[in-house]
Amino acid sequence: MIEEKIKQTVRDVNDFPKPGIIFKDITPILKDPKLCLEIAEALAAQLKGIEIDVVAGIESRGFLFGPALAQLLNVPFIPIRKAGKLPYKTIQQSYDLEYGTATIEVHEDALVAGQRVLIHDDLLATGGTVVAASKLVMQLGAEVAAYSFIISLDFLNGRTRLSPYTVKVCSLASY
Ligand code: 5GP
Repeated sequence: MIEEKIKQTVRDVNDFPKPGIIFKDITPILKDPKLCLEIAEALAAQLKGIEIDVVAGIESRGFLFGPALAQLLNVPFIPIRKAGKLPYKTIQQSYDLEYGTATIEVHEDALVAGQRVLIHDDLLATGGTVVAASKLVMQLGAEVAAYSFIISLDFLNGRTRLSPYTVKVCSLASY
């Protein structure tokens, strides 16, 4: 089963990026091309039946599988990046982190009003990042069609924060 393969491959790194955090390191997955393809295909399979016009991937680990998923779904990929990285005109959203705030942005012409967007990231923790990404999508007049993650840390209740969006949340491995 894909969930078991992912769990066997992901590496727990203690005290990263700060003491007390156990970080799920997905880089070992990238060394296994067969598993990479299986992950992209499994996400696409979970999204079957949902109308998706665009995949939006979140920097930086959302860029690892987001483009492959967009190719399987045969739709465009757009990057949502940390502030200051995108070259053209952008709109921004800030959100709270445990300490301080973070800002993400997207090109103002990345989406067309009415488009249905899959928001993709490697991992769902508290949900703060994808809630901010959802606001960017809606600011451009588009709508969130679904969310997809390789991993969800369900003990952090990110799914509850996504519940107002009432769309499907796909993930392949839950903790
Ligand atoms: P959230 O905003 O849901 O609290 O955090 C999710 C974001 O932080 C994602 O962009 C994800 O890449 C990153 N993140 C948080 N914790 C981890 C982790 O343990 N492993 C990985 N790979 N990413 C994490």
